[in-house]
Amino acid sequence: MDVDKKQDIPWLCDKCKKELVLDKVKVRYLEGNFEVELLKCPGCNMVFIDEELATGKMLEVEKELEDK
Ligand SMILES: [Zn+2]
Repeated sequence: MDVDKKQDIPWLCDKCKKELVLDKVKVRYLEGNFEVELLKCPGCNMVFIDEELATGKMLEVEKELEDK
């Protein structure tokens, strides 16, 4: 629903004002290592984790691990 809006407005790094790029980032979460695509600033390499990921995918990952 708001996907189009997101594409129209590129995400910018607060510091560098550079457009963020999608890049595969290795994250450690709980006891595991995961590779996820996250928005990253090409200038300062800061990784942005949006709310959707923080409250969505990570929770799914957590649930999968707990189900074991
Ligand atoms: Zn930056």
